[in-house]
Amino acid sequence: MATLAAMLGTALEEIRAANLHRARRVVEAFPVPGSSIAVVVDGERRINFCGNDYLALSHHPAVRAAFIEAAQRCGVGSGASHLVTGHSREHHALEEELAAFVGRPRALLFSTGYMANLAAISSLARRQDLVAGDRLNHASLLDAGFVSGARVKRFTHASAPALDRLLTEEPFERAIVATDGVFSMDGDVAPLAALASVCRARGAWLVVDDAHGLGVVGPAGRGSVDAAGLGLDDVPVLVGTLGKAFGTFGAFIAGSHDLIEFLIQKARSYIYTTALPPAVAAATRASLRIAAEDGWRRDRLRVLIERFRQGAGQAGLNLTQSVTPIQAVILGEPRSALEASAALARQGLWVAAIRPPTVPPGTSRLRITLSAAHSDEDLDRLLNALSTLPP
Ligand SMILES: *Cc1c(COP(=O)(O)O)cnc(C)c1O
Repeated sequence: MATLAAMLGTALEEIRAANLHRARRVVEAFPVPGSSIAVVVDGERRINFCGNDYLALSHHPAVRAAFIEAAQRCGVGSGASHLVTGHSREHHALEEELAAFVGRPRALLFSTGYMANLAAISSLARRQDLVAGDRLNHASLLDAGFVSGARVKRFTHASAPALDRLLTEEPFERAIVATDGVFSMDGDVAPLAALASVCRARGAWLVVDDAHGLGVVGPAGRGSVDAAGLGLDDVPVLVGTLGKAFGTFGAFIAGSHDLIEFLIQKARSYIYTTALPPAVAAATRASLRIAAEDGWRRDRLRVLIERFRQGAGQAGLNLTQSVTPIQAVILGEPRSALEASAALARQGLWVAAIRPPTVPPGTSRLRITLSAAHSDEDLDRLLNALSTLPP
């Protein structure tokens, strides 16, 4: 058997040779004066085009003030899990407000979206059950299927007919179908109405992870399930995250009274972990209010998305079908994506290169995200830089 040191050396060498090595960048100042979206990274100023702070709420004065006020009042840590002494008034109020926002009887807070997805799938699926997921689902939904021990099957991306075939071919007593609402690396919206109708016909339970839809998609940002005109009967389990459009941290599951009561009894990633800091809940209460009220933030995003797609289309870039702030430029091989990202960095733009296994082989890309804080000049700089990339 190889020593651990030898194994690590070989494995890292292989990752580097395939251009799949990942390195973190240290952000020194965020944001920098004169811009609400530029950062200092690697000692240089760059406009951030790869965060998920779509509504620019992570630095909003009212959100920061709510966080500070609650930290003074409640302290920093929650001190325990929700079922012991960690469930504060701030958490409880946020759960009620999130439930009202998505129009469901109850919501349950989780420390991260990863943990919420683990809970949603693994507390509903038993070993003998079937978990069917879209091929491009977020990794946490896939992992949740594995954790459940159920039979995990994947269906063709965004294809209700493929799901229907899968549910016809695979025998099951209980089937859980999982999909992203907005796909995190492509930005397209799942065909939720069609998926819901297949689930209804086949007796499967639909779980939608709307991490990138809530706050952004649909009237008042109520998300892609609401925008598709679907309710609790169609999508009994709705997962949302707080670290993206809401600009804070954490996640939630919304559903019926009994679903939430069941999760409190059964969900291991809820029970065996420390509750979010109450100040994070307080800050999220402020950002949720602003997200719902400030329609101009979504209007601004729509303008930026339209202008980006028009400009990038004229430049002949290979875009995905996306009407959301996630805009992917497909380049193919990992090296092309890395080189494009480095070329943009030299022009003061921060755009992440996304490579396998985050995306399928052959679809390495630049994943560009737009924020309500981007100015017209920021967008023009991005489009100019993109149009000068080598083909
Ligand atoms: C970011 C993301 C998650 C994970 O949420 P965290 O709170 O960051 O753990 C889950 N699902 C999707 C689709 C995501 O984009």
